[in-house]
Amino acid sequence: MTDERTYLRAWLSTQATQELKKLLEEKHLYQKFTIDMTEIVKKLSKGLTTRDSNMFITWIHSELPKEKFSVFLHQLSLAPRGSTTTHTQPQLWITLPHPSLYCNSKGCKRRETFTPIWFTELSQAIATVVTPKQVSLPDGFQMFTLVYQCQRCLGKPEAFLVRRDLWTFYLEGRSPIERVEVPKFVPEKEEHYYSDAIVAFNSGKVLAALFYLRTFVEQFARRITGKTGRATGEEILDAYYETLPVNRKSDMPSLREWYEKLSVPLHAGKDDAEVFTNAKEAIDKHFDIRRVFRMDEPERKAATNAESKGGPAEGGKAPESQPEVSQSIPTENPV
Ligand SMILES: [Zn+2]
Repeated sequence: MTDERTYLRAWLSTQATQELKKLLEEKHLYQKFTIDMTEIVKKLSKGLTTRDSNMFITWIHSELPKEKFSVFLHQLSLAPRGSTTTHTQPQLWITLPHPSLYCNSKGCKRRETFTPIWFTELSQAIATVVTPKQVSLPDGFQMFTLVYQCQRCLGKPEAFLVRRDLWTFYLEGRSPIERVEVPKFVPEKEEHYYSDAIVAFNSGKVLAALFYLRTFVEQFARRITGKTGRATGEEILDAYYETLPVNRKSDMPSLREWYEKLSVPLHAGKDDAEVFTNAKEAIDKHFDIRRVFRMDEPERKAATNAESKGGPAEGGKAPESQPEVSQSIPTENPV
Protein backbone atom coordinates (compact mmCIF):
# COMPACT_ATOMS: atom_id res chain seq x y z
CA MET A 1 0.00 0.00 0.00
CA THR A 2 3.06 2.24 0.36
CA ASP A 3 3.22 2.28 -3.43
CA GLU A 4 -0.36 3.47 -3.75
CA ARG A 5 0.28 6.26 -1.28
CA THR A 6 3.45 7.34 -3.03
CA TYR A 7 1.73 7.20 -6.41
CA LEU A 8 -1.21 9.25 -5.15
CA ARG A 9 1.11 11.89 -3.66
CA ALA A 10 3.03 12.19 -6.91
CA TRP A 11 -0.23 12.41 -8.84
CA LEU A 12 -1.56 15.14 -6.53
CA SER A 13 1.70 17.06 -6.80
CA THR A 14 1.70 16.94 -10.59
CA GLN A 15 -1.94 18.01 -10.71
CA ALA A 16 -1.32 20.90 -8.31
CA THR A 17 1.67 22.07 -10.36
CA GLN A 18 -0.22 21.93 -13.66
CA GLU A 19 -3.41 23.51 -12.35
CA LEU A 20 -1.47 26.28 -10.61
CA LYS A 21 -0.09 27.32 -14.00
CA LYS A 22 -3.61 27.59 -15.39
CA LEU A 23 -4.76 29.46 -12.29
CA LEU A 24 -2.08 32.13 -12.78
CA GLU A 25 -2.43 32.29 -16.56
CA GLU A 26 -6.13 31.98 -17.24
CA LYS A 27 -8.04 32.63 -14.06
CA HIS A 28 -8.65 35.81 -12.17
CA LEU A 29 -9.11 37.07 -8.64
CA TYR A 30 -11.28 34.85 -6.45
CA GLN A 31 -11.27 32.01 -8.93
CA LYS A 32 -9.99 28.55 -8.03
CA PHE A 33 -9.23 24.97 -8.99
CA THR A 34 -10.05 21.77 -7.16
CA ILE A 35 -8.17 18.51 -7.50
CA ASP A 36 -10.63 15.66 -7.84
CA MET A 37 -9.15 12.36 -6.64
CA THR A 38 -12.23 10.18 -7.20
CA GLU A 39 -11.08 8.41 -10.36
CA ILE A 40 -7.46 7.91 -9.42
CA VAL A 41 -8.42 6.53 -5.98
CA LYS A 42 -10.84 4.09 -7.63
CA LYS A 43 -8.10 2.89 -9.95
CA LEU A 44 -5.54 2.51 -7.18
CA SER A 45 -7.97 0.69 -4.88
CA LYS A 46 -8.69 -1.98 -7.50
CA GLY A 47 -5.43 -3.77 -6.89
CA LEU A 48 -5.88 -3.86 -3.10
CA THR A 49 -7.61 -6.32 -0.80
CA THR A 50 -10.80 -5.06 0.82
CA ARG A 51 -8.96 -4.51 4.07
CA ASP A 52 -6.11 -2.57 2.47
CA SER A 53 -8.52 -0.62 0.36
CA ASN A 54 -10.46 0.47 3.46
CA MET A 55 -7.23 1.49 5.17
CA PHE A 56 -6.18 3.41 2.06
CA ILE A 57 -9.47 5.33 1.97
CA THR A 58 -9.25 6.08 5.69
CA TRP A 59 -5.71 7.37 5.23
CA ILE A 60 -6.85 9.61 2.35
CA HIS A 61 -9.51 11.18 4.53
CA SER A 62 -7.73 11.44 7.85
CA GLU A 63 -3.97 11.62 7.28
CA LEU A 64 -3.33 12.87 3.76
CA PRO A 65 -5.03 16.28 4.30
CA LYS A 66 -2.52 17.00 7.07
CA GLU A 67 0.38 16.81 4.64
CA LYS A 68 1.65 20.07 3.28
CA PHE A 69 2.69 20.93 -0.22
CA SER A 70 6.34 21.93 -0.26
CA VAL A 71 7.20 24.50 -2.91
CA PHE A 72 10.17 24.38 -5.26
CA LEU A 73 11.47 27.03 -7.61
CA HIS A 74 13.11 24.46 -9.84
CA GLN A 75 12.46 20.88 -10.67
CA LEU A 76 16.13 19.90 -10.63
CA SER A 77 16.87 19.76 -6.91
CA LEU A 78 14.37 17.06 -6.09
CA ALA A 79 13.09 15.56 -9.29
CA PRO A 80 10.63 13.42 -7.38
CA ARG A 81 8.60 12.67 -10.47
CA GLY A 82 8.56 8.93 -11.12
CA SER A 83 11.08 8.01 -8.47
CA THR A 84 9.49 6.05 -5.67
CA THR A 85 12.52 4.79 -3.83
CA THR A 86 14.13 7.90 -2.42
CA HIS A 87 13.42 8.78 1.18
CA THR A 88 14.31 12.45 0.80
CA GLN A 89 11.37 13.41 -1.39
CA PRO A 90 8.66 15.51 0.21
CA GLN A 91 5.22 14.11 0.72
CA LEU A 92 3.47 16.60 -1.51
CA TRP A 93 5.11 19.22 -3.62
CA ILE A 94 4.49 21.99 -6.13
CA THR A 95 7.14 23.02 -8.61
CA LEU A 96 6.42 26.65 -9.39
CA PRO A 97 5.31 26.98 -13.02
CA HIS A 98 6.58 29.52 -15.56
CA PRO A 99 3.29 31.08 -16.65
CA SER A 100 2.70 33.32 -19.62
CA LEU A 101 1.36 36.61 -18.21
CA TYR A 102 0.63 40.06 -19.60
CA CYS A 103 3.64 42.31 -18.92
CA ASN A 104 2.69 45.96 -18.64
CA SER A 105 6.22 47.36 -18.76
CA LYS A 106 7.01 49.83 -21.54
CA GLY A 107 9.10 47.49 -23.65
CA CYS A 108 6.78 44.51 -23.41
CA LYS A 109 3.04 45.36 -23.36
CA ARG A 110 2.19 41.78 -24.23
CA ARG A 111 2.21 38.26 -22.81
CA GLU A 112 5.64 37.06 -21.76
CA THR A 113 7.00 34.15 -19.79
CA PHE A 114 7.38 34.93 -16.10
CA THR A 115 9.94 33.21 -13.88
CA PRO A 116 9.35 32.46 -10.20
CA ILE A 117 11.97 34.31 -8.14
CA TRP A 118 10.77 33.89 -4.57
CA PHE A 119 7.98 32.43 -2.45
CA THR A 120 6.77 32.01 1.09
CA GLU A 121 4.35 29.54 2.59
CA LEU A 122 2.63 30.81 5.69
CA SER A 123 2.26 27.61 7.72
CA GLN A 124 5.90 26.67 7.26
CA ALA A 125 7.11 30.23 7.86
CA ILE A 126 5.18 30.37 11.13
CA ALA A 127 6.83 27.14 12.26
CA THR A 128 10.29 28.66 11.97
CA VAL A 129 9.55 31.78 14.01
CA VAL A 130 9.43 31.77 17.79
CA THR A 131 6.19 33.48 18.70
CA PRO A 132 4.91 34.20 22.20
CA LYS A 133 1.78 32.28 21.45
CA GLN A 134 1.52 28.88 19.78
CA VAL A 135 -0.26 29.31 16.45
CA SER A 136 -2.00 26.27 15.10
CA LEU A 137 -3.53 26.17 11.67
CA PRO A 138 -6.26 23.80 10.50
CA ASP A 139 -5.40 20.70 8.46
CA GLY A 140 -5.25 21.26 4.74
CA PHE A 141 -4.70 25.00 5.10
CA GLN A 142 -1.78 26.70 3.41
CA MET A 143 -1.16 30.22 2.16
CA PHE A 144 1.40 30.85 -0.54
CA THR A 145 2.93 34.11 -1.72
CA LEU A 146 4.50 33.60 -5.12
CA VAL A 147 6.75 36.25 -6.62
CA TYR A 148 7.37 36.38 -10.36
CA GLN A 149 9.42 38.44 -12.80
CA CYS A 150 9.10 38.93 -16.55
CA GLN A 151 11.84 36.96 -18.21
CA ARG A 152 12.14 39.45 -21.04
CA CYS A 153 12.40 42.86 -19.36
CA LEU A 154 13.32 41.73 -15.83
CA GLY A 155 11.06 44.52 -14.59
CA LYS A 156 9.31 44.99 -11.27
CA PRO A 157 8.27 41.71 -9.65
CA GLU A 158 4.63 40.67 -9.49
CA ALA A 159 3.17 38.73 -6.57
CA PHE A 160 0.27 36.31 -6.21
CA LEU A 161 -1.49 35.18 -3.08
CA VAL A 162 -2.80 31.61 -3.28
CA ARG A 163 -4.80 29.92 -0.53
CA ARG A 164 -5.07 26.17 -0.19
CA ASP A 165 -8.15 24.79 1.50
CA LEU A 166 -7.78 21.00 1.44
CA TRP A 167 -7.65 20.21 -2.31
CA THR A 168 -8.93 23.54 -3.55
CA PHE A 169 -6.57 26.40 -4.44
CA TYR A 170 -7.88 29.96 -4.62
CA LEU A 171 -6.24 32.94 -6.27
CA GLU A 172 -6.98 35.56 -3.64
CA GLY A 173 -4.62 38.39 -4.31
CA ARG A 174 -2.22 39.89 -6.78
CA SER A 175 0.12 42.85 -6.81
CA PRO A 176 -0.11 44.88 -8.93
CA ILE A 177 -3.77 44.56 -9.95
CA GLU A 178 -4.37 42.44 -13.04
CA ARG A 179 -3.85 44.31 -16.30
CA VAL A 180 -5.46 43.27 -19.51
CA GLU A 181 -4.37 43.55 -23.05
CA VAL A 182 -6.73 45.97 -24.80
CA PRO A 183 -7.31 45.25 -28.50
CA LYS A 184 -5.86 47.76 -30.96
CA PHE A 185 -9.28 48.80 -32.21
CA VAL A 186 -10.30 50.23 -28.84
CA PRO A 187 -9.95 54.04 -28.99
CA GLU A 188 -7.20 55.24 -26.71
CA LYS A 189 -9.20 58.03 -25.08
CA GLU A 190 -11.83 55.64 -23.69
CA GLU A 191 -9.50 52.67 -23.26
CA HIS A 192 -9.52 52.84 -19.45
CA TYR A 193 -13.28 52.24 -19.28
CA TYR A 194 -12.87 49.21 -21.51
CA SER A 195 -10.03 47.68 -19.49
CA ASP A 196 -11.80 48.42 -16.18
CA ALA A 197 -14.81 46.56 -17.56
CA ILE A 198 -12.72 43.47 -18.23
CA VAL A 199 -10.87 43.59 -14.91
CA ALA A 200 -14.17 43.99 -13.05
CA PHE A 201 -15.68 41.08 -14.99
CA ASN A 202 -12.64 38.90 -14.34
CA SER A 203 -12.88 39.66 -10.63
CA GLY A 204 -16.52 38.59 -10.49
CA LYS A 205 -17.93 42.12 -10.26
CA VAL A 206 -20.27 41.75 -13.20
CA LEU A 207 -22.53 44.68 -12.38
CA ALA A 208 -19.51 47.01 -12.30
CA ALA A 209 -18.30 45.46 -15.55
CA LEU A 210 -21.65 46.13 -17.25
CA PHE A 211 -21.51 49.73 -16.07
CA TYR A 212 -17.94 50.31 -17.31
CA LEU A 213 -18.73 48.79 -20.69
CA ARG A 214 -21.82 50.96 -21.11
CA THR A 215 -19.84 54.01 -20.02
CA PHE A 216 -17.19 53.13 -22.58
CA VAL A 217 -19.80 53.14 -25.36
CA GLU A 218 -21.44 56.34 -24.15
CA GLN A 219 -18.23 58.29 -23.62
CA PHE A 220 -16.91 57.29 -27.02
CA ALA A 221 -20.16 58.39 -28.69
CA ARG A 222 -20.15 61.66 -26.74
CA ARG A 223 -16.66 62.47 -27.95
CA ILE A 224 -17.47 61.61 -31.57
CA THR A 225 -20.72 63.55 -31.63
CA GLY A 226 -19.58 66.40 -29.40
CA LYS A 227 -22.71 65.98 -27.32
CA THR A 228 -22.29 66.96 -23.70
CA GLY A 229 -24.58 67.66 -20.79
CA ARG A 230 -27.96 66.09 -20.25
CA ALA A 231 -28.52 64.29 -23.52
CA THR A 232 -29.56 60.69 -22.83
CA GLY A 233 -27.46 57.75 -23.93
CA GLU A 234 -30.06 56.91 -26.56
CA GLU A 235 -29.97 60.43 -28.02
CA ILE A 236 -26.19 60.40 -28.14
CA LEU A 237 -26.07 57.03 -29.82
CA ASP A 238 -28.66 58.05 -32.40
CA ALA A 239 -26.45 60.99 -33.24
CA TYR A 240 -23.44 58.70 -33.38
CA TYR A 241 -25.24 56.42 -35.81
CA GLU A 242 -25.56 59.34 -38.21
CA THR A 243 -21.77 59.69 -38.29
CA LEU A 244 -21.29 56.18 -39.69
CA PRO A 245 -20.72 55.63 -43.41
CA VAL A 246 -24.10 54.78 -44.93
CA ASN A 247 -22.89 51.64 -46.70
CA ARG A 248 -21.43 50.14 -43.51
CA LYS A 249 -24.20 50.80 -41.03
CA SER A 250 -26.10 47.60 -41.63
CA ASP A 251 -23.01 45.40 -41.16
CA MET A 252 -21.99 46.90 -37.85
CA PRO A 253 -23.53 45.72 -34.59
CA SER A 254 -25.52 48.68 -33.30
CA LEU A 255 -23.98 50.45 -30.32
CA ARG A 256 -27.37 51.86 -29.43
CA GLU A 257 -28.93 48.42 -29.31
CA TRP A 258 -26.17 47.14 -27.03
CA TYR A 259 -26.26 50.27 -24.89
CA GLU A 260 -29.90 49.49 -24.22
CA LYS A 261 -29.24 45.80 -23.58
CA LEU A 262 -26.50 46.71 -21.09
CA SER A 263 -28.92 49.05 -19.32
CA VAL A 264 -31.44 46.29 -18.55
CA PRO A 265 -29.34 44.38 -15.94
CA LEU A 266 -28.00 47.72 -14.64
CA HIS A 267 -31.50 48.93 -13.85
CA ALA A 268 -32.34 45.57 -12.30
CA GLY A 269 -29.08 45.45 -10.32
CA LYS A 270 -28.43 42.02 -11.82
CA ASP A 271 -25.04 40.35 -12.33
CA ASP A 272 -25.76 39.23 -15.88
CA ALA A 273 -22.57 37.68 -17.22
CA GLU A 274 -24.22 36.56 -20.44
CA VAL A 275 -25.27 40.08 -21.38
CA PHE A 276 -21.74 41.28 -20.69
CA THR A 277 -20.12 38.58 -22.82
CA ASN A 278 -22.50 39.09 -25.73
CA ALA A 279 -22.31 42.87 -25.52
CA LYS A 280 -18.53 42.82 -25.48
CA GLU A 281 -18.42 40.57 -28.51
CA ALA A 282 -20.76 42.85 -30.47
CA ILE A 283 -19.02 46.03 -29.36
CA ASP A 284 -15.64 44.53 -30.27
CA LYS A 285 -16.97 43.72 -33.72
CA HIS A 286 -18.27 47.26 -34.14
CA PHE A 287 -14.88 48.76 -33.30
CA ASP A 288 -13.00 46.23 -35.36
CA ILE A 289 -15.06 47.22 -38.39
CA ARG A 290 -14.21 50.85 -37.66
CA ARG A 291 -10.54 49.86 -37.65
CA VAL A 292 -10.73 47.80 -40.85
CA PHE A 293 -12.46 50.59 -42.76
CA ARG A 294 -10.37 53.28 -41.13
CA MET A 295 -13.24 55.28 -39.80
CA ASP A 296 -10.99 57.77 -38.14
CA GLU A 297 -13.07 59.33 -35.45
CA PRO A 298 -14.66 62.23 -37.35
CA GLU A 299 -15.14 64.79 -34.63
CA ARG A 300 -18.69 66.06 -34.46
CA LYS A 301 -19.21 65.16 -38.08
CA ALA A 302 -22.93 64.54 -38.14
CA ALA A 303 -24.16 65.66 -34.78
CA THR A 304 -26.30 68.44 -36.18
CA ASN A 305 -27.82 66.20 -38.83
CA ALA A 306 -29.01 63.70 -36.28
CA GLU A 307 -30.51 66.38 -34.07
CA SER A 308 -32.59 67.86 -36.85
CA LYS A 309 -33.95 64.46 -37.82
CA GLY A 310 -34.95 63.84 -34.24
CA GLY A 311 -35.13 60.06 -34.37
CA PRO A 312 -33.21 56.87 -34.80
CA ALA A 313 -32.34 55.88 -38.30
CA GLU A 314 -31.09 52.40 -37.63
CA GLY A 315 -31.69 49.61 -40.06
CA GLY A 316 -31.45 51.76 -43.16
CA LYS A 317 -29.62 49.95 -45.90
CA ALA A 318 -27.42 51.77 -48.32
CA PRO A 319 -25.99 50.82 -51.69
CA GLU A 320 -22.46 49.43 -51.51
CA SER A 321 -21.06 52.12 -53.78
CA GLN A 322 -21.65 55.11 -51.51
CA PRO A 323 -18.88 57.59 -52.22
CA GLU A 324 -18.93 58.96 -48.68
CA VAL A 325 -16.27 56.59 -47.33
CA SER A 326 -14.80 55.05 -50.45
CA GLN A 327 -11.64 57.12 -50.41
CA SER A 328 -10.54 55.63 -47.11
CA ILE A 329 -11.70 52.06 -47.54
CA PRO A 330 -9.15 49.37 -48.21
CA THR A 331 -11.10 46.98 -50.41
CA GLU A 332 -9.01 43.94 -49.63
CA ASN A 333 -9.31 42.03 -46.42
CA PRO A 334 -12.51 43.36 -44.84
CA VAL A 335 -13.05 42.20 -41.21
ZN1 LIG B 1 8.31 42.45 -19.45
